[in-house]
Amino acid sequence: MNFWLLVILLILFTSYVLEVVVSLLNIRALNPTLPKEFETTFNEQEYKNSQKYTRAGIRLSLTESSFSTILTVLFLLYGGFNYVDIWARSFGFGQIATGILFTGGLSLLSFMAHLPFSLYSTFVIEERFGFNRTSFKTFIFDMVKGGLLAIVLGAPLLALILWFFINTGDYGWFYCWIGVVAFSTVLQFLAPVLIMPLFNKFSPLENGSLRDKILNYAGQEHFKLQGIFTMDGSKRSSKLNAFFTGFGKFRKIVFYDTLLEKLTESEIVAVLAHEMGHFKLGHIVKMLFASIIQTGIMFYLLSIFLENRGLSDAFFMTETSIYSSLVFFGFLYSPINLLVSILFNAFSRKNEFEADNYAARTTGSPEKLITSLKKLSQANLSNLTPHPVMVFVHYSHPPVLARIEKLRQFR
Ligand SMILES: [Zn+2]
Repeated sequence: MNFWLLVILLILFTSYVLEVVVSLLNIRALNPTLPKEFETTFNEQEYKNSQKYTRAGIRLSLTESSFSTILTVLFLLYGGFNYVDIWARSFGFGQIATGILFTGGLSLLSFMAHLPFSLYSTFVIEERFGFNRTSFKTFIFDMVKGGLLAIVLGAPLLALILWFFINTGDYGWFYCWIGVVAFSTVLQFLAPVLIMPLFNKFSPLENGSLRDKILNYAGQEHFKLQGIFTMDGSKRSSKLNAFFTGFGKFRKIVFYDTLLEKLTESEIVAVLAHEMGHFKLGHIVKMLFASIIQTGIMFYLLSIFLENRGLSDAFFMTETSIYSSLVFFGFLYSPINLLVSILFNAFSRKNEFEADNYAARTTGSPEKLITSLKKLSQANLSNLTPHPVMVFVHYSHPPVLARIEKLRQFR
């Protein structure tokens, strides 16, 4: 048996088993007794619902990954990648265009395999728990817009990567690295202006006491804001959220309309203070820097496996090519990717505690952030007792009880 085929099957199998184990642990960690901290927030029924919601989510994601693991293995073993390559080559285009067709074809197949699960998640699970506000029309439009966006942004980026690898020899990985970093930096600036408005409506927050409170707080912390916006998050879901977009003086804060409905004004300021904390404490810059380094390492490793005949043989390819190596390398990189994401998550959880502390310090008390965290958990039916292994592997935010406990220690 081909060595690389063995490695890849082992990777697929191990990551599947890992996911099953983590999910089962997470189900076992569901505690039927409502945590004391939440006795005044959740009633018994809501708490039961939050656990049912967690279970339903885990069951769906386990079904999906069982299905997609089996499908991937069968597709691989029956030479599916080679068939897609034969199709892409049949047009007689050059390497770059053929590469775009090959990758596009595979993406389309993978999209179709995941579509039933995303339909089920939105229209059955989210619906059952009362979150879903997405109409079928919005779902279809999102899909079409997302697809077009993937073509408009993904195809030129892939073309750029292939061009560098074809034309710049041993330093191809380095140029790709610089190119991708430049591409995503430009995108960070364009996304709030060109991309996000395709999916949601953003309107400036109306004049009034909330706006005054926010500007007052931002001014007191010497924080430059280009605008305060509300977003029609209620178009898709009743869940709550808030986030910053843009950099430097282009920074805007965006609140979901659902968040503005549920939280009081001073709670909203506490949420804003937490988000601002991420900027003030340099988290955004550090994360960006770490991901740039990560991208560089990835491209370097990728360059080692370009046009590797053994790796191509593992996928039963007739022809070896740079573009197919990109896809195959993705399989080899997935365990490294998992390790990197575990590291990033750990770093992010630490940052969350720091931003909470920042918010408590600059707003004068932790109380408002605590009550808003509770309201967020209640409205989103968050799992209050995730298993520590689950948190370690997948959570970018600490469990809400840990955050509240830390905030309570604030003096
Ligand atoms: Zn945060």
